[in-house]
Parts: sequence; structure tokens; C-alpha cells
Amino acid sequence: MFNKILIANRGEIACRIAATCKRLGVRSVAVYSAADAQARHVAVCDEAVQIGGAAAADSYLRGARIIEAARVMGAQAVHPGYGFLSENEDFARACAAAGLVFIGPPIAAIAAMGSKAAAKTLMGEAAVPLVPGYHGIDQDAQRLQREADAIGYPVLLKASAGGGGKGMRVVEHSHAFAAALASCQREAASSFGDDRVLLEKYLTRPRHVEVQIFADQQGGVVYLFDRDCSVQRRHQKVLEEAPAPGLSAELRRTMGEAAVNAAQAVKYVGAGTVEFIMTASGEFYFMEMNTRLQVEHPVTEMVTGLDLVEWQLRIAAGEPLPLTQAQLVCEGHAIEARLYAEHPARGFLPSTGTLRHLHWPAHVEFALSAADGARAAVRIDSGVRQGDSITPFYDPMIAKLIVHGASRQQALARMAQALGECEVVGLHTNIAFLQRIVSHDAFASGELDTGLIERHQAAFFAAEPVPPPAVLALACAALLARQQEAGEAASPWTALAHWRLNGPCIQTLCWYQRGREAAGDEPGPYAVTFTSDHEAQTLACAPCSEPEPFAWWRGDVPHAFGVMLGERRITGRVVTQDDVFDVFYQGQAYALEWQNLLAHAADEAGDEGRLTAPMPGKVIAVLVSPGEVVAKGAPLLVMEAMKMEHTIGAPTAGTVTEVHYAVGDQVSEGVQLLVLDAG
Ligand code: ADP
Repeated sequence: MFNKILIANRGEIACRIAATCKRLGVRSVAVYSAADAQARHVAVCDEAVQIGGAAAADSYLRGARIIEAARVMGAQAVHPGYGFLSENEDFARACAAAGLVFIGPPIAAIAAMGSKAAAKTLMGEAAVPLVPGYHGIDQDAQRLQREADAIGYPVLLKASAGGGGKGMRVVEHSHAFAAALASCQREAASSFGDDRVLLEKYLTRPRHVEVQIFADQQGGVVYLFDRDCSVQRRHQKVLEEAPAPGLSAELRRTMGEAAVNAAQAVKYVGAGTVEFIMTASGEFYFMEMNTRLQVEHPVTEMVTGLDLVEWQLRIAAGEPLPLTQAQLVCEGHAIEARLYAEHPARGFLPSTGTLRHLHWPAHVEFALSAADGARAAVRIDSGVRQGDSITPFYDPMIAKLIVHGASRQQALARMAQALGECEVVGLHTNIAFLQRIVSHDAFASGELDTGLIERHQAAFFAAEPVPPPAVLALACAALLARQQEAGEAASPWTALAHWRLNGPCIQTLCWYQRGREAAGDEPGPYAVTFTSDHEAQTLACAPCSEPEPFAWWRGDVPHAFGVMLGERRITGRVVTQDDVFDVFYQGQAYALEWQNLLAHAADEAGDEGRLTAPMPGKVIAVLVSPGEVVAKGAPLLVMEAMKMEHTIGAPTAGTVTEVHYAVGDQVSEGVQLLVLDAG
């Protein structure tokens, strides 16, 4: 076994790898960019080296710099994690040349699987089933168009070098092919530096089922069962589970064996995932092989009780597979949810900012049945702590929440509960969106296919629930507490209240709900009438409702509040900053803004016709020029942020009167990109 390794990654996966190193007594060396000097992964590793600027290209993608760091620090091996250099064959080769062990497969296997197109050719030869399509080397646009026409629509365009759904485009009609091809090639070139594409028949309602395999240097190959990753948005995984629900033992074994065949065909070594696309009737086709640890590997760890990073290290160090196929057991059910800083209702735009408040359900950070005898029910893999920022430089993942249960039903219940206990303040997250999916009948009943989210979008993208009286009462309690602690205990409402010398104080508190505003729903106001005199306090949570006896107190832990409203005892948590009160009550989050009635109303000057950048990024295509008349929905400009393209479309028909940016310009969130005259 190694005694020191360098982790060429950041975020949760770097922390995850460091945890295994610590358990095995292997020293870990972190690398970090200028933006990550205070990052958690730097703190959890034993040593750390700064390798360059914030942009990935200036740091985490600088192979030579990372290898240099490994040598200087005396590391024997490099673990690349996922993303960044994990599937980069030049990097693997450079590691070997520098005398470092690359903790991953042999260079030839990365090369073979690095291109989806070449991999398909190889798998076809090894008799692994393939989706009908075109993966030839001729990339002439007309040739591609002819192939697409021959396959029949809908056709799926993929970047040959792709991953993470980037570049992928579904084309419904022949006439839409050329534009989709150009867009796919552009995204492929910017994400992977390679604009080659392949075509596949687009299957309707398929499932994504993948098999975890492991191979050692002695030629042994085993499969660690399967995972279902069908719940996706824009071809990116949202929820993953192990084992894949509803597979017969025979199908499970057939798929496992097909995956082992695929691995053997490329003389694979280490951890790998063979991804299959499966039809409702159980036919499955090879999609690609990921030659690294997957984001969703924890669900496999939960059901097998194994530490996959430990297996990776042992195999890279030359040890044989720790267990044989017959010794591997799959126990219970595990589900993973990816918690992202993003706006699901706004096309999943990444959200950046500081994690002002972060509270997780009771969990273990990384636990295994084999190691501690008791399988963890809830595990969280995260690369951030409260106070850290999600920046535009890297993937906006906040954490992975993984649960295990004896059955799928139990795992699902645990997931729903754990999600309800997650509290994140400071940026938008997908937590409410995840909650709606896991509590929906379609997911619960195992109606798994890649169209699940789209089919039920009305339910999943529903407006934020309106705050019930309990939530308003908790917010009022937090406001009162704040006033009191600011030294206004004697008369909390001095500044605002309408005191009458011989009568009670009566105050109307106005609350607006932030999420609803963003979703275009009525955000309030929710008027709460608070009455206080010497003897008693009351609260009326709606204009016409009867005042109810009211009392409040602070809980034992920070942010915890309790109130009595009538005879109801209500507890929750409230995180405040300025006039924004984030209330967490019974598994739901409500962002309420207190409107100080003495302050003037926010200026909501008309924004019509102004087209602003929804996030910081770069302009990569300007599709219109001033004077141009456009139809509603017409694409006007394309931005790129976090390597994803976002097209700005015309909200109404009109004439473009101004274009403020050109291709290559970097723009910040909220700047005006163009002006459209709707008249
Ligand atoms: P990436 O490597 O970019 O993640 P994949 O080839 O793994 O791309 O595909 C990602 C997802 O896209 C799959 O999980 C599946 O949901 C969908 N997909 C891929 N190929 C097809 C296809 N031929 N028909 C329908 N959906 C597909």
C-alpha cells in the first residue's frame, strides 16, 4: 500500500478520498487553486500545494503542475477523482513517465473508452449490445445529416468526447438537425476541446442502468451490482439508487456479466462503470464506460458495505481484488440525491454565493458496515462548510445526501426525512425540487425512466407553498427576539408600534415570500396582526382571522424557536439576515422578507424589454443585430457559464434596438445584454 498520495481534485470527492486515506493511514496531499485556499478539501488533507489560478484551466487541469507537486511532496500515486483530469489519457501517461502511479485504469483503456464513438466500435466487436446509430469518423455535416435521416427521428446528438450530458441534443425533425449539430459541436469544443459527434436513435422512456465493475492487475474482474440513474434533468443525474429497482435476478446477472465482458475487452484495471440504456421491456444497450469513480459510487458502497476508494488504492498498489464475485452481497437499498446550488425553476441555472447557513440532518460523513458493524442510515459527502462560497469557477454541487434502508420504501422515507432536515441559506438550491420528486407517487412506485421529471414537471416545478400561520408566527418570534436582543426589550415595537398609553400595542407585520416572487406567483403580503399589552400577547395570522393567544421562546440550539399559537405548540428554526427570515418548519423552507412599514416600498421600476444575463458568464454567440425584427421565443444570444450553454430568447416579438455585448465578452449577473422594443 502507498504511504502518501496526491488528490488531483477538489470539493466533495477530494474530501471523500482523503477520508479513506485517513482510515488506511495513507497521507494525503491536496492541490488547490487561488479560489480554494480556504476550501474544506485543503483542510482535511495532511498537506497541500497551491497550483494556480481560480479557473480550472489554470489549476485543476494543469497536469504538469500537479505532477510536479506530487514529486515535490513525495507522493507515490495520484488519485484524480472524477471530472478534471480523471479520464485524460495524457495525464495518466505523464504520471507514469514521472514514476507516479495513476489511480485509474491503464492508459490504453482510458483511450479506448475516452471517445464514445471508438468505445462503441470496440464494444460492438465484443458483442456488447449497442443502440442503433452512427459513430463513424466522417464528420462532414451533410454526411451526418444523411445518417440522422436514415436512423429516423428523434435522433440524439452526442459529443464523442462527452460526459455530463454536455453537448447532447435531441433532434426531432430533419430540418432542425443542422442548427442542433452546430450547437452540439460548439459546446463539445468548449467543454472537451474536441467537436466530434455521434448519433443515436433516441429511445423513448428508457432507463439508465449502470454496472459498477472492478478489475485487478492479475486479470480478475467482478461487478458490484447495478445502479439506476434514470431520474435526470437535461441528461444529468438527479437521484441515483442501488440496486436498480425491478430487475429480475437473471437480468441483473446478465447485465453484470455484459459489463464484465466490456471491461475485459479493454483489459480494464481499477474502478469502472459500464452505462446501459434499458427499454421498458428489459433490453439493454451499451452507452459508455466511465473509467473512473462515479459521483454516485456511495450508493454502491451503502449496499455492499465496501469502501470503493480503498479498493481503488489496493488495486493500484498491485493487490488482487479483495473479494470474489460469489463473496459480494447486495444488502438493502440506497438512494443518493445531489444537492445543487441552482434555480430549478429557472432552467437549473447555477446559483453562486456564500453558504451563510448550512445545517445537515444527523449523519455520518463516511461510514461502512464492514468497518463499524452498523450500516449508516444517512451519509453526507460534502466539500463545503458553512461560510464557504459556491463560485462560478466549478461545479455548483453543495453535497450528496445518501440514505440506506432495509427496503426501497424505507430508504425513500429516510430520504424524504433527511431532505426536510437540510437547511441551506445564502443561495438557491434544488432541495424543494428533490423533495417533490421523492415524495411523488411516480418515483415511489418505481416509474423510473429518463422522462420522469419532464412528465411530472407541473408537480416538480410547482410554486412554493404559501407560508402557513405556524411559519408566520415563527418569523414573528424571530423578529421579536431580534428586537429584544437589540436592547429594545421593554418596548420591542417602539420604533414602529402604534402605542396607546392606556391600551394595547397593535402592530401589523407584513411578510413577503421570496421564492414565490421568483416563480412569478403572488409573493404576499401576508399581514400578521400582533397585539401586546401588559397581560397577554395575541397574533392574528390573516386579516380576518381571530387573534389567538401568542407566546414565543428561543430553543436550546441556535436558530431554534418555539411559539404557542392558541393551543398549538410550534417549533422550527429561523435564520435571519437583515429583513430576510428563512424559516424551516416541518421539512419545508420559507424565505420571508419582513417589510418594515416605515421604510418605503421597494422600487419595482419596469424592466420590460431589458434582457439581462441570468448569471455570470461569457457571451459565445450573438444571433441578432440592432434593427432586426424577431418573433417571440427567437434565440437572441447564447451565453456560456460553467461550460453549459444558455440561450437568451425573445420574451415577446419585437425589434432589437441595442446589443450591448459581443462574442467573447465576460458578463456579470444582471447586466443588460440587449434591448428589445416590443412595440
Ligand atoms: P454523458 O456521458 O454526457 O453523461 P451518456 O451517453 O452517458 O452521456 O448519456 C446521458 C443520458 O442521456 C443517459 O443517462 C440517458 O438518459 C440519455 N440518453 C443517452 N443516450 C440515449 C438514447 N440513445 N436515447 C435516449 N436517451 C439517451
